[in-house]
Amino acid sequence: MIDFNMKLASISRDKKIQFDDVLISPKLSNINSRKEVLLDTIVKFPNSQISWKGIPIMASNMDFVGTFEMGIALQDFNMPTAVSKFYSPNDWVNAIDHGLDFDFNFMTFGLDSIKKIHEYFDFIYKKKSQLPKSIVFDIPNGYINSFHSLISDTRKEFPKLGIMAGNVVTPDGVAKIMDSGADGVKVGIGSGSVCSTTNVTGIGYPQMSAVLECCEEVSKFSGFIISDGGVRSSADIVKAYAGGSGFVMIGSLLSGHTEGLAPLVSKDNKPFRQLYGMSSSEAMLKHYGGVEDYRASEGISVLIEDKGDVKNTVTQMLGGIRSACTYIDANNIGEISANSQLIRI
Ligand code: 5GP
Repeated sequence: MIDFNMKLASISRDKKIQFDDVLISPKLSNINSRKEVLLDTIVKFPNSQISWKGIPIMASNMDFVGTFEMGIALQDFNMPTAVSKFYSPNDWVNAIDHGLDFDFNFMTFGLDSIKKIHEYFDFIYKKKSQLPKSIVFDIPNGYINSFHSLISDTRKEFPKLGIMAGNVVTPDGVAKIMDSGADGVKVGIGSGSVCSTTNVTGIGYPQMSAVLECCEEVSKFSGFIISDGGVRSSADIVKAYAGGSGFVMIGSLLSGHTEGLAPLVSKDNKPFRQLYGMSSSEAMLKHYGGVEDYRASEGISVLIEDKGDVKNTVTQMLGGIRSACTYIDANNIGEISANSQLIRI
């Protein structure tokens, strides 16, 4: 039994904002056509010293999104994928045989042991003489000590490995993850389309404010953030860059495609594909054989109308970003933030 603590909670006085609460004001521009906008951008990784080049829109490591097939389709656009945690080292070897490129495909780990990382790396190196260039550590609550120890152990073992880790939504969380040796911090709690964390726990943070506040902190480390969750259109991607994000991670917008491999289901004579949250009971049943007694499901399952091949969606998405750049005189994604005057609406 523990005594009830009467110390009062603090409350922030400023109103926190979502992507929908802002717009970007247009300005005089020297860019006369969308064709002039080059989307490829360099993102600098401060600890591993990697200079990553590509279009920094990352497919999420969710089931039916972060597949090898998605990774292979997106790498043609120079776009990265955080590949699902649930592939075996041998699956990776097969994917490499089919052309998977480590520049654009990041292995994802959870709260795993450093031994598991070694096992994956050693197996792949033995078979293919290649090593992953960057990895993503993804856990729902990036505030826990054991997670920070895993990041710092990994950094010690692999000084040249790109490490992105999260999720957190506040500057203290960002500082802890950067201090542990990460290059970039994944930001977003409660914003995902199939996430029910805010309903189940009361924890969360509006994504636009999380991006702005975390970017300010990460810049002290010369790192970057990956805005993760809540993107419903190309406009939201632009707003995340305007807030200072290095990468934007996307789940539902990239779901419902052939490459995600979700089986087609018919409803009202239309084809649909499933998407579920990675903390949903569906995901826990599939990967861990069920929901443990001490846990609650923090994700939902939805049906997404089949969108066909992902290249159609990507072309639309990139067109939207190019158009945004012409309105604000940004030559590439890296210039969006400095050229953006955000207005609250
Ligand atoms: P979306 O782009 O669909 O809005 O958000 C994708 C993000 O939602 C993922 O990258 C991940 O961070 C988060 N997410 C995925 N599944 C779940 C879940 O079951 N619960 C919670 N809380 N977040 C999830």
